[in-house]
Amino acid sequence: MIIGVPKELHPDELRVALVPVQVPRLKKAGHEVLIETGAGEAAGYPDQEYQEKGAQLVGRGDVFAKSDFLVTLRGGANADEQFVKDAQGLQDGASVIGMLDPYEPHDLFTLYGKKKITAYSLELIPRITRAQSMDVLSSMANLAGYKAALLAADNLKKMFPMMMTAAGTIVPAKAFILGVGVAGLQAIATTKRLGAVVSAYDVRPAVKDQVLSLGAKFVEMELDTADSESSGGYAKAMDEEFYRKQRELLTGVLKETDVVITTAAIPGKKSPVLITEEMVKEMQPGSVVVDLAVERGGNCELSEAGKTVVKHGVTIIGPVNVPAALAYHASQLFSKNLETFFLNLFSKEGDLKSPGEDEIVDTTRILADGGAVHEDRRKILG
Ligand code: NAD
Repeated sequence: MIIGVPKELHPDELRVALVPVQVPRLKKAGHEVLIETGAGEAAGYPDQEYQEKGAQLVGRGDVFAKSDFLVTLRGGANADEQFVKDAQGLQDGASVIGMLDPYEPHDLFTLYGKKKITAYSLELIPRITRAQSMDVLSSMANLAGYKAALLAADNLKKMFPMMMTAAGTIVPAKAFILGVGVAGLQAIATTKRLGAVVSAYDVRPAVKDQVLSLGAKFVEMELDTADSESSGGYAKAMDEEFYRKQRELLTGVLKETDVVITTAAIPGKKSPVLITEEMVKEMQPGSVVVDLAVERGGNCELSEAGKTVVKHGVTIIGPVNVPAALAYHASQLFSKNLETFFLNLFSKEGDLKSPGEDEIVDTTRILADGGAVHEDRRKILG
């Protein structure tokens, strides 16, 4: 198969879907790699490295026209306008693999349908042990959690660690992590390493032990969370009365905190608003909120996507596409996940697996044969 890697042209995107180290592995499995000239440059992977590993450098038009499998960071509802235009040049019956943001309708999905393109959406990789090495969401969330802790430290006018100096003692900063999935766990680990006193909360009760094992405190709240986890290990959306009570209980916690990192998300849905303007007013002046959920509406009512704002004396950071800020390693991890995912599409005999043969392939294949594959995606993908 010919695997094509276009340069990512979205203004927020610095990553590349495939890094040079994957090229010989894919070639060994019988595939060819076409890479658009300059595709890896912004992430720190020059053209020469791809060439040395056996990839063919080509122009953008050829990447789209010649690929059997186009691999990309954003090839769906999150794609830039140029990608949407260039996708017209894909061969009928080709495949696209990427983070396709498959939760809302988009012209690209209609185009893929018309061209009978098979589309695989990596966000939908099931959270099962066999799929861990393909799990792009975990890879990216891990980096985002780390970067969020650094952003918080950089914007707080206090030190994170305790220091006993001849000029007096500096008390450690207090960090609170709201939502302890993959990003939240890394935010705990990083704020701890920087010396903060860390506490955390998540609606999923199973998280408590993980928080404690990282040396952070789990904040107990009197909320009924017995039914908060889906069978896939994600949080379920709770009703507004639950969130109202949660906000009430959080107010006291936030008053005592220098840094809040929020990561609370419900897959495919708008993130719950857990910090209102009234709650921000009660926070200590100079404290910092990093809202990692800002791209899905935000956990803080006052956060703005892509901006840092100061409201009521509190610095509120709404960073977008945080993993791209660590483009080198983000690309490295994504690329490894992609290699594993791609090779798993084929049986030992080298044939593409048929529907029903592999849970990972079935769950991620959102479009095939001109239409949406999953019952629950038909409404949005057509
Ligand atoms: P996510 O990004 O969907 O959500 C982030 C966190 O926000 C979750 O922990 C969620 O419970 C929490 N949250 C949602 N609403 C909240 C609220 N109102 N208040 C507080 N917290 C709230 O989550 P994720 O990082 O993708 O991880 C989801 C789960 O999947 C985790 O248990 C993770 O450990 C697990 N996981 C398993 C595997 C695997 O087994 N292969 C791989 C990756 C992740």
